[in-house]
Amino acid sequence: MNTHDNHRDNDHDHPLVPAAHIDRRTLLRVGGLGFGALLLAACAPKIASNSSASSSSSPRTSAATADTLPGFAEFAATVTTTLSDGVWIIESDGMPSHSMMTGIKSWQQQVPVPQPYSGANAWQIPSQPQLAEHPISARTSLYTGAIALAVNGVPIFNALNNRGDDAYLAGELDNWGGHSGRADDYHYHVAPLHLSERLGVDKPIAYALDGFAIYGTAEPDGSVVAELDEYNGHDLGSGYHYHGTTTYPYINGGLRGVVHVTGDQIEPQPALHPFRPPGEPLRGASITSFTTNAPGKYELTYSLNGGVGAVAYALSGSAVTFTYTDPSGTTRQENYTR
Ligand SMILES: [Zn+2]
Ligand SMILES: [Zn+2]
Repeated sequence: MNTHDNHRDNDHDHPLVPAAHIDRRTLLRVGGLGFGALLLAACAPKIASNSSASSSSSPRTSAATADTLPGFAEFAATVTTTLSDGVWIIESDGMPSHSMMTGIKSWQQQVPVPQPYSGANAWQIPSQPQLAEHPISARTSLYTGAIALAVNGVPIFNALNNRGDDAYLAGELDNWGGHSGRADDYHYHVAPLHLSERLGVDKPIAYALDGFAIYGTAEPDGSVVAELDEYNGHDLGSGYHYHGTTTYPYINGGLRGVVHVTGDQIEPQPALHPFRPPGEPLRGASITSFTTNAPGKYELTYSLNGGVGAVAYALSGSAVTFTYTDPSGTTRQENYTR
């Protein structure tokens, strides 16, 4: 899949396959037991191994009547959670409310663009996580796709990029631990520990795709984090959970719980629909600012060899216009639809 072998960071290869589109109204209309069947019809066979396929007749627990997961409620304005047959369906556009991109020193000319993580292309995590007989380490695998989802709706990828290098130490991440992938999809590669400031330490900042919660750098009761296993998690008597850390593995160091892996990627997870071909590394560039000028209108600036360049882009429906200004002042415009 790495058709651009000169890329520094080839870890952004979500499957770029078209997914049957199911809009929010349809999702709400089919609801309940019907949704599992609809997902199966839309995404088989990858979803067939998901627990949603066999749990439709099981009695619902108290968790099943909740309309959100701890942590996600704080972001309900932009992230929706729906429980359906033992699976949390989580919809977002993948854009955080904090700023982005500033601080990146190794940049592939990708920018953050809202993503259609909705309908049949929503995130899915089990509501009743199960410990796996054979956990999967992220040190040697899962370099493709997300391994967790932050409660603000932003996906989290392996801390190691596709070359096995630490993306944070390589200067690829912004001041919030994220950057934009080859489909202009913003994601983190380390734990978004900054979310604890908004949420409090008693709330998860993310969930691994196996369904286990990821807390910040304190236990939920505020005490010092107890010893962690190689997956950055533990069970202190109330069930397994992970923690974010300021050193490797930063986030869940693998999946201690049951997940389904196809190739090197956890499935199901949303497919990406890029507007434009992936960019090339811009050696020596540092991103200096990122601003949202109006809804759907963004501008990123970077410094390169003492000059300043910019990428301005505006989304309108399914169309986007990019205006590139290089450090010499030359501008170029590109239009895309998806
Ligand atoms: Zn990445
Ligand atoms: Zn803990």
